[in-house]
Amino acid sequence: MNMIVCIKQVLDPEAPLSSFKIDPATNTMVPVTSVPFVISPFDEQAVEAALKIKDAKGGKITVISLGVNLLRDVVKKPLSLGADELILLEDPAFIGGDSWSTAYALAAAIKKVGQFDLIFCGRQAADSDSGQVGACIAEILGIPQVSVAKKVEAIDGKVKVDKVTTDGYEVVEVPTPALITVSNELGEVRFATFKGTMASKKKEPIIWKPADIGAEPAKIGAAGRRIKTRKLFQPVRDSKCEIIGGETDEDKAANLAKKLVEVKLI
Ligand SMILES: Cc1cc2nc3c(=O)[nH]c(=O)nc-3n(C[C@H](O)[C@H](O)[C@H](O)COP(=O)(O)OP(=O)(O)OC[C@H]3O[C@@H](n4cnc5c(N)ncnc54)[C@H](O)[C@@H]3O)c2cc1C
Repeated sequence: MNMIVCIKQVLDPEAPLSSFKIDPATNTMVPVTSVPFVISPFDEQAVEAALKIKDAKGGKITVISLGVNLLRDVVKKPLSLGADELILLEDPAFIGGDSWSTAYALAAAIKKVGQFDLIFCGRQAADSDSGQVGACIAEILGIPQVSVAKKVEAIDGKVKVDKVTTDGYEVVEVPTPALITVSNELGEVRFATFKGTMASKKKEPIIWKPADIGAEPAKIGAAGRRIKTRKLFQPVRDSKCEIIGGETDEDKAANLAKKLVEVKLI
């Protein structure tokens, strides 16, 4: 079973909102230095889904990440857990992309890897939350996709997926090769062992530039963007408190009811 997992390095989504600022003039986020980078949490679950299949059936796990300044301690984490190979698409030309141009580059890298039965992505990236890259990769590669998985089992040329729905889950079977996006309902992810961490330090990632994956310069990074950001802003939360008075408790309750009617809450 040859598996590929796409992981994105993001700023720690647990950081307080006040850590992030937006430059309204350029519609971009002001670079943050006080927040650590982590693997997007849903992608950690995607790695776990692949590791579970490797535990059960054996196989090879190749991890791919696209970006710039990818911190080795962060992106090497899957290697310390049992993934076999790490490929980094790391080049300034990838800066400023959107879901489609990111998927185009990742799909080109996956084509270059060649042999794959399953591709795993997170259900959505913890920073931009689009939830589109997985579906775009599947479309480009012309393979089936199942989104929002909470359990994935490989069975003889097909994959059985428990897919989260609003009122429970449905069981879906698709032939391989297929792409699965993984959700947090998969459950706890494993911790790296000391031995695994030491072994991962010795493994060097493979770096691919756009030319290595045959990517057309006009289709990657900012050049390949299909999305135009019109406005990027932090919503302002404005709250105020009003004490409703009255002579007696009954008066206070009546005044409160009048107020709620007035502001159309009842
Ligand atoms: C270096 C860099 C510069 C950027 N600059 C800008 C910018 O200037 N303006 C702007 O608007 N946006 C920028 N982005 C954000 C970019 O638009 C998003 O990364 C892209 O759209 C994918 O995020 P998404 O929310 O669509 O991912 P989703 O569709 O939510 O991601 C779903 C899954 O796809 C996979 N995936 C997504 N991205 C990656 C990745 N990079 N590597 C590996 N797997 C991935 C993961 O498995 C993830 O869980 C930049 C991103 C990068 C990496």
